[in-house]
Amino acid sequence: MKVYNLSCEHDHRFEGWFSSEGDFSAQLGKGLIQCPVCESHGIRKLPSAPRLNLSASQAPQTDVSTQIQAEVIEMMRKIVANSEDVGERFAEEARRIHYNEAPERAIRGTASKSECTALAEEGIEVMSLPVPAALKQPLQ
Ligand SMILES: [Zn+2]
Repeated sequence: MKVYNLSCEHDHRFEGWFSSEGDFSAQLGKGLIQCPVCESHGIRKLPSAPRLNLSASQAPQTDVSTQIQAEVIEMMRKIVANSEDVGERFAEEARRIHYNEAPERAIRGTASKSECTALAEEGIEVMSLPVPAALKQPLQ
């Protein structure tokens, strides 16, 4: 089951539940998705806020150029600066957001491999990033 944040052309926000990404595309293609407020069919999917697991630290790739590495680090720095640090409550918080028990937002923290597997089984997407320890705290 996938839950998508949708919006119509008049910026009415609502949630749609679909069995899969393909199911969503098919319904959208057939014009079966309708805004519950204005009944518009001009529906688009909003990007969902990323949930980042920072504990899956792997050795950084050594075959990337310094330039790419610098861009990746810069991107990570931005993600880290714009997400809320929930630390070891990561899995719990990702689950609460998924089930609408907590506000939708970008979070970061640490989760064990088994916690990540459990989240994935529940259809909760988690992005794992090998983030250098120095970047886990945003620079002031
Ligand atoms: Zn609408």
